[in-house]
Amino acid sequence: MPDPFKTAQNKLDEASAILRLDPVAHELLRWPMRELHVALPVRMDNGNTHVFRGFRVQHNDARGPNKGGIRFHPDETIDTIRALAAGMTWKTALLDIPLGGGKGGVICNPKTMSEGELERLSRAWIRQIGRILGPDKDIPAPDVYTTPQIMAWMADEYAFMKGNNEFGVITGKPLALGGSAGRSDATARGGIYCVREAADALGLKLAGASAAIQGYGNAGANAHRLAVKLSEMKVVAVSDTKGGIYNPGGLDYEALRKHKEKTGSVSGFAEASAISNEKLLELDVAVLFPAALEAVITETNASNIRAKIVAELANGPTTPAADAILYNKGIHIIPDLLCNAGGVTVSYFEMVQNASGYYWEEDEVHTRLEKKMKTAFKSVHKTAQQYKVHNRLAAYIVAIGRVAEAMKLRGWY
Ligand code: GLU
Repeated sequence: MPDPFKTAQNKLDEASAILRLDPVAHELLRWPMRELHVALPVRMDNGNTHVFRGFRVQHNDARGPNKGGIRFHPDETIDTIRALAAGMTWKTALLDIPLGGGKGGVICNPKTMSEGELERLSRAWIRQIGRILGPDKDIPAPDVYTTPQIMAWMADEYAFMKGNNEFGVITGKPLALGGSAGRSDATARGGIYCVREAADALGLKLAGASAAIQGYGNAGANAHRLAVKLSEMKVVAVSDTKGGIYNPGGLDYEALRKHKEKTGSVSGFAEASAISNEKLLELDVAVLFPAALEAVITETNASNIRAKIVAELANGPTTPAADAILYNKGIHIIPDLLCNAGGVTVSYFEMVQNASGYYWEEDEVHTRLEKKMKTAFKSVHKTAQQYKVHNRLAAYIVAIGRVAEAMKLRGWY
């Protein structure tokens, strides 16, 4: 896999050259402004103490407090976190919400940990990282393998540290604990809104059109439900870490949800045949949703991708070499910065509600989200045409321009 942070820097360099960005502004954006690396001693169920490694990277806060998720993953690295923290700076700018970029993580395997171990790890992370967090400083949220329950433990631990409830310090919380209606499916919903815009631009009819989803966590499973509900699409294949399933007639969401709840995986679902992750990516579908981890569409398989639209619900699923191949094949990519930005947008709504103490109805969240996603989609589309570049580069151009403007106004260059 290419070094994720170098890749992120290369994309910044490319967009900066097109924008003729001031060299000082460019240098400021090439590296995170702050990082905290911590050791987290956690008592495991067997009585032993395990020392986990954790991080928080604050990439840039010129437009507002740092914002971004926390990943719990065995393959976590500081370079992935740095790349994703920079990605959050661009994402919040692209959606034009008054926040900067950050990301955190812990090297751990939540799949092999008990609930008690996960709770102790989550509280330990906040005890260490809490000193650089705050509703006006840096606000974490869920990401790969972190959940609303984990956000709840973290919010609780932070409240103990401060001596009062500060719900706005973390988003993606459960509804009963200062969460926002519509946050749990916001990433997928924002992605579907983008797919609708892309289909309009391409003159593609979504009702009855096929989709494949790689990854069946929060984003992937909700994309299945909402692709059917909002756009009458037919989801023919989905996969998770244990394998994939395929039914050209379409997979029933409710039946599959029950199967996954019972068995822990989509694989083995009775009303479908087995398909490998590799084959799923290469299916002849209208929309392909990579919704899991980084670097799944690479130079090895990009030329076999047959989808008309690739909607990146995951962060960084397409490598730069694959990007060029897809672009030359005329495949419409909805880049991660745009496609999965529904999550952080509703996180921002959650912060606004926490600050005011007044909570919105779910349909109000949906209406506001749709407006934000459409506006961002249009600015990317327009910029891609104006500069004759692909959508990803266009998204970077829009975002970097906005962050640079804020840094200029602050007098940073
Ligand atoms: N982890 C999500 C992302 O990558 C959401 C971040 C947030 O809500 O702050 O955009």
